[in-house]
Amino acid sequence: MSSDTPTTIKCPGCEDGEIVFDAQLLLAGTRFTCNSCSASICLSDNSKSTLATGLLRLDQMKQNLGSLKTAASRPKMN
Ligand SMILES: [Zn+2]
Repeated sequence: MSSDTPTTIKCPGCEDGEIVFDAQLLLAGTRFTCNSCSASICLSDNSKSTLATGLLRLDQMKQNLGSLKTAASRPKMN
């Protein structure tokens, strides 16, 4: 009974490691860490994202999360 969908993004900090996160948990405030350089990401629940490292590209993150949220909450297409 789980619909968790871990997402992997290439770490923009070191451009070598990966950050694996679950969008639901990320949106809930959980912090996730790069497996290579230990950069970490987390979001506030404000409309703007707060990033622990300031290294991530917000637009890219928001697009990823936005599409995941949309897919999760609105399974209907069209
Ligand atoms: Zn990294």
